[in-house]
Amino acid sequence: MINKAKQILKETFGYDAFRSLQKEVIQNVLNKHDTLCIMPTGGGKSLCYQIPALLFEGLTIVVSPLISLMDDQVKQLEAYGIQAVMLNSSLSAASYQENVQLIRQNKVRLLYLAPETLLMEKTLELLASQKVACFTIDEAHCISEWGHDFRPEYRQLAHLRTRFPESVCLALTATATDRVQQDIQKSLQFEASSSFVASFNRENLFLEIKQKSQPAQQTLNFLDKFPDQSGIIYCQSRKQVDEMADFLEDEGYSVKPYHAGLSAEVRQQNQLSFISDDTQIMVATIAFGMGINKPNVRFILHFDMPNNIESYYQQIGRAGRDGLRAECLFLFSYGDIRKIKFFIQQKLPAEQVIASTQLNALVGLAETEACRRIPLLKYFGEDYSKAKCGMCDNCLTEHEPAIDVTIPAQQFLSCIKHTGEIFGAGHMIDILRGSKSQKVLKFGHQKLSTYGIGKHLSKAQWFYLSRQFVQKGLLTQDMQHGSLKLTAKAWAVLRGEQSTSAKLEEQQVAPTLPQAEQKYDSSLFQILRQLRKTMADKLKVPPYVIFPDKTLIEMAIYFPHSEAVMMQLHGVGAVKYAKYGLPFIEAITAYCETNHLSEKLKRKPAGKLSPARKIGKLRHQVIGEKYNAGASVNELKAEFGSQTKTILDHLYKYCGTGELLRLSDDFIELSQLSPKKQDAVSALFNKHGTLALRPVFDALEQKVSYEELKLLRLHFLCQKGNNDAT
Ligand code: ADP
Ligand code: ZN
Repeated sequence: MINKAKQILKETFGYDAFRSLQKEVIQNVLNKHDTLCIMPTGGGKSLCYQIPALLFEGLTIVVSPLISLMDDQVKQLEAYGIQAVMLNSSLSAASYQENVQLIRQNKVRLLYLAPETLLMEKTLELLASQKVACFTIDEAHCISEWGHDFRPEYRQLAHLRTRFPESVCLALTATATDRVQQDIQKSLQFEASSSFVASFNRENLFLEIKQKSQPAQQTLNFLDKFPDQSGIIYCQSRKQVDEMADFLEDEGYSVKPYHAGLSAEVRQQNQLSFISDDTQIMVATIAFGMGINKPNVRFILHFDMPNNIESYYQQIGRAGRDGLRAECLFLFSYGDIRKIKFFIQQKLPAEQVIASTQLNALVGLAETEACRRIPLLKYFGEDYSKAKCGMCDNCLTEHEPAIDVTIPAQQFLSCIKHTGEIFGAGHMIDILRGSKSQKVLKFGHQKLSTYGIGKHLSKAQWFYLSRQFVQKGLLTQDMQHGSLKLTAKAWAVLRGEQSTSAKLEEQQVAPTLPQAEQKYDSSLFQILRQLRKTMADKLKVPPYVIFPDKTLIEMAIYFPHSEAVMMQLHGVGAVKYAKYGLPFIEAITAYCETNHLSEKLKRKPAGKLSPARKIGKLRHQVIGEKYNAGASVNELKAEFGSQTKTILDHLYKYCGTGELLRLSDDFIELSQLSPKKQDAVSALFNKHGTLALRPVFDALEQKVSYEELKLLRLHFLCQKGNNDAT
């Protein structure tokens, strides 16, 4: 049987291999064993019942809580040429009857039902006359009162099982807490051995958490990476959603808002526009997402704090269902945390404990310097087996150790003390850096002893320090006014009884490669996308129902001119090819003729290279080659919109592949150190090697920044390399 399943996977769905646990679940269901399948969003749960449905003799019933989900599934199955219908309150009387007739005539393989429809006597009568082979419960967590979407009608489904004693039961969900899992098994009377739990690690999601410092600019910078690609921005309040949508619209983005304050009609329109690729960005509250099956969401931005790790995970889970890389950025702010803490204080004591625990877990995820996947998966009870995933900001950043900042801390704290603990960080920094701002002059703060004593640090460095002082409990910040107050810990530092350490530079993640730089013909991709959109609009289905992005990308790699090559591509099954293939082949052939390109055969990829590695390699090679062709560090910075440090990291990586950098004074000119000091650093590289910077950093008593060291390391390597070579 499993061989037949594999054949259907390729011939009908156009996929080469099963994803993790799909085979096991399908096998178990085909053997008529009740099964609980827990897989993350995008894990591929649908195939787990769709393939058996095609192999069983009788009907497969699928209970689904949302009409939009059923509708989407039915449309997708129709595109594969599979007979699927739904029965729910959204249908006209005529369509409803038509579907009932099809069922009576045994013409249906999969029947999607809302739970309340299934519980209706007339539905049960209809089904009594049918051979029901499989009873599937999608979003099965709705059965559990411990789950986040408890639906009383789901509870009654359990009793219904007695009506279909012959049919095997399959329950599917992406919610994995132990309690919910047990609850599902118990209420459906499953054996304990019946569950299959896939890993919750979504490898294709790039995770990044950054301090929110200039939210508008950070948002625009992030969006710039995804021209023309779909994504969601989550905000906390309706007002924030509206403001963000307006702001982005003014900036020229294609964007729509979504929140519970909009009428059902507007919400539906906006959602449809997003799903049909007419709108690029959805700005939304948590109200948006459930029931969205759009596979090509390429980015998620959390502009505000999610409620807890579970919501965060659920929301980022909406990205990259198609398995292609997607990016998730969470702008984390201690201000938001203060607001949440304030709300928590209003709760009942028992609720306060839960809410605080959840908040702490989220803060832990944001503050960790280890791989983000470790605390994230830990939260779901999973031990991440690798030390580094290579797909999160922390794994791509070389962390600078904290340094002793007792003196700047004393300066900052004493400034707060002398101004009466009624001002915020910005004003303190103005005083310390000797600003002549109106506010400083108005209060006569230019006369303070701390005035102008902190010019050696930049504004950004001071702000970063002040946030860390709050984090370390030296300061508390007033919820409403943002004014800073000293704590007992701060007094200890002020009196010199305690030292304190912190970092001066906020870490920047090496920029990751946007999709467009993968090796496919992007002009052809755009043409095919347009073709798909026109066809989809005509058929009134979302574009992804015709072919997913991944199929179009493969078309733009292999340029199929023939059925044989086309059928090798991801997502092209026999029926889909017959229905939609020809217009694509025509478009590709015409494009290839104009551009003198020819068809390529698709070979199975040799060995697995993680997307991050493939992408990282490309980027540092490109940068290294451009540098060697004469581009300066500053020109590269401008071209790639990157920080100096990032360019240096890429160049270093380029050296690491055995390439030589051209000889120039570029690095030395960017260095701020005296020639004498530069020589000292070179000597230290000679002594300690260049692999790790820490020994050199320590040998210099932690007085030379990492960025400086990275510059001089490159200078050193390029001198040395070129000397060795001659
Ligand atoms: P879930 O219901 O678990 O969120 P879906 O069943 O919607 O996930 O699957 C997510 C996407 O992955 C869909 O576009 C689906 O077609 C695709 N997919 C599922 N299984 C495979 C597979 N074995 N190979 C390639 N793509 C797959
Ligand atoms: Zn990681």
